Amino acid sequence: MAISSRQNTPRYFGPPINSIENSLLESMASYGSMILKYSFNDLTIDGDLVIERTELEERKYLCGTFSKTEFEKLRDELRRASEGIWRHEKDWVLDDEKKHYVCRLPLLGEYIPEEKKVVLYLKNIEDACKNDNVPYYCGVLYTFIHEMFHATHHKAAKANYDPVREIEEAMTEFSTLVFLNEMSSKSSEWEETFKWAKKTIEEKQWYLGSLPAYGFGYYLYDFFSKKEDFCSWIRTYHQKVGDIDKKNSYVKRYQQMLYPVYPHGNEELCMELLHSILFTI
Ligand SMILES: [Zn+2]
Repeated sequence: MAISSRQNTPRYFGPPINSIENSLLESMASYGSMILKYSFNDLTIDGDLVIERTELEERKYLCGTFSKTEFEKLRDELRRASEGIWRHEKDWVLDDEKKHYVCRLPLLGEYIPEEKKVVLYLKNIEDACKNDNVPYYCGVLYTFIHEMFHATHHKAAKANYDPVREIEEAMTEFSTLVFLNEMSSKSSEWEETFKWAKKTIEEKQWYLGSLPAYGFGYYLYDFFSKKEDFCSWIRTYHQKVGDIDKKNSYVKRYQQMLYPVYPHGNEELCMELLHSILFTI
């Protein structure tokens, strides 16, 4: 079913993320509102982007792999750094075949650039929401908006969309929080989604492996929400996403700072590096 009518759906009048086309942000707001009203299938946005839903449960190793010794060393470091806060040990299992510790996290959604397609893994989303005791739509909305920001970056980068994952995911989570925060005044459902997303993204700081790059998006949101013009980084990233050189020394250093343990005290250095990447090179 293709949905063509967009009447009576909220528009996005949020912070001036000017360089991201307003029509796209408005589409995200209106489609998000439709998610709250209908179950949806085969949606297209401006004839350009396909959204697919699947009931399939697909699990991926989001956090990379560690040997037993590496894992234990990193876990101890993280325990010390986080003053005893260690929330996600249960997610780590020993992969019998590879003899490596892996973090099994269900994949909630994906943006597939080759097909310009957003895929939502609804079964995984449902499980995640049940786990956290929040309504199902919170997970669907959050995942949809997150993947849509990847799509907007792809659109901006045109053919050059091969982003540095650690920057892309941080900026995507940051943008998602800015967007959801703005939408949270529209209805209690958006508000609830924003609160859950904020908590979920904040917690990603405390994983081992690649998830702290997502968690750094929460750090950026938290930092900039107290400042004026907090969208300038989002605008600039959107303009530069296709031009960031993966071999650049600032980029490499930024990546190193996020791994293998969340910086815990090095956040400011990560911000400086990201600032250099976005504004000076
Ligand atoms: Zn993502």
